[in-house]
Amino acid sequence: MPRDPRYDILFEPVKIGPKTARNRFFQVPHASGMTNAAPHVRAAFREMKAEGGWSVVSTGACSVHPSSDDTPFPCATLWDQADLRSHALMTEAAHRQGALAAIELWHGGAAAVNRNTRHAPLSPSGVPWMATHVGFMSSARPRVMDATDIRDLIRWHAEAAVMAERAGFDILYVYAGMGYLPYQFLLSDYNHRTDEYGGSVRNRVRLVEQLIDAVREATHGRCAVALRLSMQELRGRPSEVAPSEAHEVVTHLKDAPDLFDVKMDYSATDCAASRYTPEGSHEPVIDFLKRITDKPVVGVGRFTSPDTMVSMIRKGVLDFIGGARPSIADPFLPKKIEEGRVEDIRECIGCNICISSWHDGAWVRCTQNPTAGEEWRRGWHPEVVRRDGKGQVLVVGAGPAGLESALTLARRGYEVALADKAQEFGGRLRWESALPGLNQWHRVVDYRMGQLRKMANVSLYPASDLSAQDVRDFGADHVVVATGARWLPHLCGANELPSGLLVGPRVYTPDDLAAGVVPEGPVAVFDYDNYYLGSAISEHLVGKGCTVTYITTAGAAAAWGFMTNEQPLVHQSFAKKGITLRTLEVVTGFDGDELRLAQIFSGEERRIAVRSLVIVGYRAGGSDLFDALSDGMPGDRLHLTGDANAPGAIVHAVYQGHKTARELGLTAAQTQPRRDAPFALRDFQMPEAAE
Ligand code: ADP
Ligand code: SF4
Repeated sequence: MPRDPRYDILFEPVKIGPKTARNRFFQVPHASGMTNAAPHVRAAFREMKAEGGWSVVSTGACSVHPSSDDTPFPCATLWDQADLRSHALMTEAAHRQGALAAIELWHGGAAAVNRNTRHAPLSPSGVPWMATHVGFMSSARPRVMDATDIRDLIRWHAEAAVMAERAGFDILYVYAGMGYLPYQFLLSDYNHRTDEYGGSVRNRVRLVEQLIDAVREATHGRCAVALRLSMQELRGRPSEVAPSEAHEVVTHLKDAPDLFDVKMDYSATDCAASRYTPEGSHEPVIDFLKRITDKPVVGVGRFTSPDTMVSMIRKGVLDFIGGARPSIADPFLPKKIEEGRVEDIRECIGCNICISSWHDGAWVRCTQNPTAGEEWRRGWHPEVVRRDGKGQVLVVGAGPAGLESALTLARRGYEVALADKAQEFGGRLRWESALPGLNQWHRVVDYRMGQLRKMANVSLYPASDLSAQDVRDFGADHVVVATGARWLPHLCGANELPSGLLVGPRVYTPDDLAAGVVPEGPVAVFDYDNYYLGSAISEHLVGKGCTVTYITTAGAAAAWGFMTNEQPLVHQSFAKKGITLRTLEVVTGFDGDELRLAQIFSGEERRIAVRSLVIVGYRAGGSDLFDALSDGMPGDRLHLTGDANAPGAIVHAVYQGHKTARELGLTAAQTQPRRDAPFALRDFQMPEAAE
């Protein structure tokens, strides 16, 4: 189908200093968890985006010197010639697909406490960067930079720029955002200096200006220089000569870089979870740039709608549509718009599992795109599977795992029958996506159902509660069982292990609520699962008119939610909705009127009066259907996947469903991930040095 002419503007080429981007889709720097230790993995991950039509693909933060060591976070480096080799693999991959390659030169200053390299952290004025609430604390405090340190910092950027050009990068970033060193110079909270780098805004931008000049001079103007700025705090600061300090900063720098990349200051607002933040949430902070500068501007906002993208350009907010998460969820987003296949876009759901992977120190994972991070290791392409399927597969259960299995199997060419006992497909997402803030998560179902409905080799069987005999009678060549997991009302015992089942009046699990139970209030929600569901259920019950007390074994609500940037917003929401928060406690008993609790460390007993208890704790997998079928059906024809195989988050179910479908009918040897010296830089030619 030809593309909608309304979207033509998105495919115009745009000049960035000496370089030209082929269209307006710009994959901005984002954490991928892929360090120099995995250069092939990283190159393949980014090449996929270039193949999918992004005109610029960028690295994540790339340290310019050992005094910026982000351990335990995975971080790329450009410290020496050996590092250069690992990056060149990615620039070659980007260029092969017609994209420009950008590198984000990074110095973390006080935010990088150099746990491995043991350098004293650097800062403008000795002010530490703390993030107590997200658990990334350190006992180290930074030292104050003197004039030599500042000269060194500028030189390190220049040296890194030379190496970056040699590695093949087209666009070199100076990074003054997200609490990192150049940003700390911009903000008076961090910068108390009395020399020419402190005091007035003019003085505070001096370092950034010098970094831009140094990078440009080091590469003799051959590379484009981008400036990444966090604007949230500065926009809130009054200025005597401009609407805000952000305006003043941009006015001073308006001609300095070839491109402005503008964003928020904190991970929770910059990479905000869709649960609390809509698409395009950066706009009120970054909307003024183009009124001040003639340089192109890129910004993000979890854009997946081409209409919103076009409006960002037409309104004069952005020149480039920046994408981090949308480019992970669908590397082929630009191509799909270009080819008039907007309905095929696998839209990011804003769950932030991707950022949690970085917090975990792992390669990026994505709920919507199970192939993310597996492009090289397993050779998975998000749009292409081998078309070798022969025969029929019955997939039982149409939750995230069953849907993904069915889709991938159908793409392989199998005749696919997908059955679910429910009238609506979607599994756990039927109910969960109706909880407050989680409606965008239903995109996991929408995308897959949209694709499945278009395929001639797929038959859908809703309202089909299949017994083992039904499955046998159906007679498919293969059966994939994706029947999900069950929540159980276990208490939480010693060492936070699930202990005995709590039996009694008005004790519920999420499955009861999903089945339509509305508990009598006041309700206690006891959460030792500690991801999103306990807090979402609490918010849901407030909406039903219940008084809610949320109790957790952890020190904060939705304790694992700090990994997905949700936790601060959960606390704000609890405060707004009047949900009482009790931490570091376990439930020890409930008689229908009185809930008994114990402090997890001291064992001190407490009692509160509630009428109902919802336990969000332990989920059990397994499948009676699978067990019954195992008796008589050969293992290579029967497959257990998703939560029924191992209960987890939706990302795990989708991944397992995909893997089951990719591997079905193949031998172990055919599906081995690459292990042959996976990180070695074989067959690699060192690029020539530039003049
Ligand atoms: P996952 O996250 O692994 O995809 P879900 O719990 O989201 O698991 O989905 C499992 C789906 O399986 C549910 O929609 C449920 O209705 C369906 N299901 C469970 N048992 C059967 C069965 N015997 N026949 C058909 N569908 C089933
Ligand atoms: Fe979007 Fe979630 Fe994928 Fe991240 S993990 S890109 S937020 S769908």
